[in-house]
Amino acid sequence: MRAWEANFRKVEPYTPGEQPKNPRVIKLNTNENPYPPSPAAAEVLRSMDPALLRKYPDPDSSLLRDAIAEYYGICPDRVFVGVGSDDVLGMAFLTFFNGPKPVLFPNITYSFYDVWADLFRVPYETQPLDKDFRIVPEDYMKPNGGIVIANPNAPTGVELSRDLIEEIVKANQESVVIVDEAYVDFGARSALPLTEKYENLLVVQTFSKSRAFAGVRIGFAMGHPSLINALNCVKNSYNSYTMTTPSILLGAAVMKDRAYFEESTAKVIATRERVKKELSALGFTFGDSKSNFIFAKREGTDAKKLFEAMRADGIFVRYFNKPLIRDYLRISIGTDEEMDTFLGYVKQYLAKQGS
Ligand code: PMP
Repeated sequence: MRAWEANFRKVEPYTPGEQPKNPRVIKLNTNENPYPPSPAAAEVLRSMDPALLRKYPDPDSSLLRDAIAEYYGICPDRVFVGVGSDDVLGMAFLTFFNGPKPVLFPNITYSFYDVWADLFRVPYETQPLDKDFRIVPEDYMKPNGGIVIANPNAPTGVELSRDLIEEIVKANQESVVIVDEAYVDFGARSALPLTEKYENLLVVQTFSKSRAFAGVRIGFAMGHPSLINALNCVKNSYNSYTMTTPSILLGAAVMKDRAYFEESTAKVIATRERVKKELSALGFTFGDSKSNFIFAKREGTDAKKLFEAMRADGIFVRYFNKPLIRDYLRISIGTDEEMDTFLGYVKQYLAKQGS
């Protein structure tokens, strides 16, 4: 080892889902939206003056922040924007979790939380889910330096009711509670109204899933102006220009198209409910997903083998080789046609296995 390598920050990075180069792959592995974004995005791209790119972007991303605030009926000083919700969540870990007590989050959840905690040297303690992959609110009623809950949770898709979220927030008014609502638009209830009542609650959402904008990278947080100010101070101590001019313009335009958003999320929800029925008929079991994916297992079927067989044949789902969840596959909801191909493949696979 070279002497200076001793000073490197040692980190175990997060592993994102695979992005295959072959466009013919049926991609059900990273919870992207199968439908294109609102046509308002194409219009922005067509009409954008390239001369705009010469200048630095607005460091406050006001146009985008205002569009989000208007959509949710809140003041712009309650909105923070970032480069995808990963950026917003990472910034929130850096901003809010600087105490000696452990930050609490579930043992099965978005696998970036422990990566940020390690990166920023935040002490943390994971809490078990119950046997049905539900969060147990009582586990979050002990001394802590903060709480992070994905709702619906990932990769389980299971929702914690708003009442139970409120119990956790109410019992923890000395800590910041982050609710990561990356998947909330597919049928779950947002905790946003609670941010008017509890100053310690930060709700984080993203354009990546329900607004079909994973490639643009826009995430946002909503909460009391004191939390938003603190996030802005840290962000402006790190990088003034997180959001590009194109993403500010694109995000603002897409946010205004409520009708398209409602229509395309409804399509994903309808497909999800149909796929649930078909997977049940094939002997799979899963929690009641309120997200754009289903986390399923099948007694007698090796999830890893099925994952590998599908992958070899160009159907990508997500498999986590981790304790407690290695019997499961996380299947993102694609178009009806993609899901038919996936279901057809699984049927044939099971028939060949004789199970
Ligand atoms: N939170 C959860 C629970 C997620 O699954 C993801 C997607 N990987 C994110 C946040 C981050 O999404 P993005 O950075 O695209 O907004």
